[in-house]
Amino acid sequence: MIDLHAHTTASDGSDTPAELIANAVAAGLHTLAITDHDTTGGWDEAAAAVAQLEVPFALIRGTEFSCISDGEQGRISLHLLGYLFDPDAEALKAERARLRRSRLGRGEAIVDNLVAAGYPISWQQVLDIAGGGAVGRPHIGQALLQAGVVDSVTDAFAHLLSSSSPYYVPKLEMPVEVAIQLIRQAGGVPVIAHPWARRRDRILDEAALRGLVPSGLLGIEVDHLDHAPDDRARLAELAAELGLFTTGSSDYHGTRKSVRLGSDTTSPQSLERLLSLASGIEVLHSPASGHGR
Ligand code: AMP
Ligand code: FE
Ligand code: FE
Ligand code: ZN
Repeated sequence: MIDLHAHTTASDGSDTPAELIANAVAAGLHTLAITDHDTTGGWDEAAAAVAQLEVPFALIRGTEFSCISDGEQGRISLHLLGYLFDPDAEALKAERARLRRSRLGRGEAIVDNLVAAGYPISWQQVLDIAGGGAVGRPHIGQALLQAGVVDSVTDAFAHLLSSSSPYYVPKLEMPVEVAIQLIRQAGGVPVIAHPWARRRDRILDEAALRGLVPSGLLGIEVDHLDHAPDDRARLAELAAELGLFTTGSSDYHGTRKSVRLGSDTTSPQSLERLLSLASGIEVLHSPASGHGR
């Protein structure tokens, strides 16, 4: 089984990168992508864990970039997965740092709003929960959970943390066309993440999705928990028409979301396409994979 989207403590997941690898093996996966928000911070620990495995396993290193589309529909926030790009490519590296930095001021502003409304949490508590990883709303949700304000992080998102909440503050995002180009320049493969996750926020319409192809988009994440069956079918048709490959993934976040590793998966054919399009860095194989490394 192939799962191409998972988070760790390097961003808003609850597994350390080593725990993620162990859990992926336990879940029966043989190929996993680590895709933390706006960071490559979990890559080295995940790679070290894969180097110790006694079963065949392939690690694809990636990042989920915070992006914005500003077209005919107005401003829409979206996520773009980048796989196997060179982490030392300067322009993209600088953008990741900028995005992470903005998450700090923005997270603190959301916490300030919640504190002003009487919710018993603090910014230091959120920083401690994030533990040096890219800070996100799920960490604030965890603080609200610890304070007994909500019953789960998902509950916190229903009102207090949603983008329509009075406490919400937007974060910095990259124009998606720029992100696509920078990932391609770094030898990576850009795939749009859960484009039709309708219950989260406003989504790109078909015309806007088509418009990303000339920028260099290569794939669409079709099978995802937040996609309805008819949307999955339509996205798959659209991908075929546009010559894009499709993926399926869990978007696992450990205990911060209820979804399990491998709940949606990617076909071997799509994985092959992805690998054939990448030139930034190598897939990492465990010693037991028989790749002679
Ligand atoms: P942020 O990156 O700080 O804007 O927070 C967005 C992140 O929150 C997403 O990447 C998801 O991991 C998480 N998220 C979004 N909606 C929900 C939800 N309804 N329940 C739990 N986590 C969510
Ligand atoms: Fe997340
Ligand atoms: Fe996402
Ligand atoms: Zn994700």
